[in-house]
Amino acid sequence: MTRSLCHQAPELHEFEATVLDTRPGAVLLSRSAFYPGGGGQPADRGVVRWAGGVVRVERLEAEGDRLWHVLAEPAVVEGAVEGVVDAAFRRQMCQLHTGLHIVNALAFQAFDGALVTGAQIGDDGTARIDLDLPGADNDRLRALEPAVNDAIRQNLAVRQVYVPTEVALAERGLLRSRSVAPPPQADGTIRVIEIAGLDRQACGGTHLASTGQSPPVRILKVDNKGRHNRRIRIGLAG
Ligand SMILES: [Zn+2]
Repeated sequence: MTRSLCHQAPELHEFEATVLDTRPGAVLLSRSAFYPGGGGQPADRGVVRWAGGVVRVERLEAEGDRLWHVLAEPAVVEGAVEGVVDAAFRRQMCQLHTGLHIVNALAFQAFDGALVTGAQIGDDGTARIDLDLPGADNDRLRALEPAVNDAIRQNLAVRQVYVPTEVALAERGLLRSRSVAPPPQADGTIRVIEIAGLDRQACGGTHLASTGQSPPVRILKVDNKGRHNRRIRIGLAG
């Protein structure tokens, strides 16, 4: 298996690993800090360095609990390697992802339990979330922006906890998404992202350690997507 470091050590961007297996243009590593993608968050970018050179990681391919690093060139990577995750890209993903949690949490509170029907983080500094909000006034959604930025200014701690599946199922709003639920861990628990005093929801992505690590967030657009769904697009200011 590939030991995944993006959850256990979210600040780690450079890591050493050994090669478990290779095929032309791809390498299977013993451990990896690359986020493989999923839940609307794109995979990390970065490179793998080894004695033979350096090659860009094109994408990640999960095969059970093994993570193939698909390379941009047909290099044969052997021996001890060093993986380097693009820290700036990861940081922006964490900022936008955490921003979506805040928007989602405030909408959940303001509209009494709005479920998530989709989310996608872009590589252009924006991200969108779709909420099941039949009959919602879009101006009320736009008006959440100051509260989102209050939560950022308060620099609330963000942490991960693992809760047993039956506890997760019993807690209202913990499984917030109508479309994607993070798969349970090997031990049957579910990973929950907690923003202190604001929100708890199951999620498998990467996040900031505290909300204050994000620049202010702008609500760029609120669209109707069908009768039930509202699509909120956010962007990072500055
Ligand atoms: Zn998340």
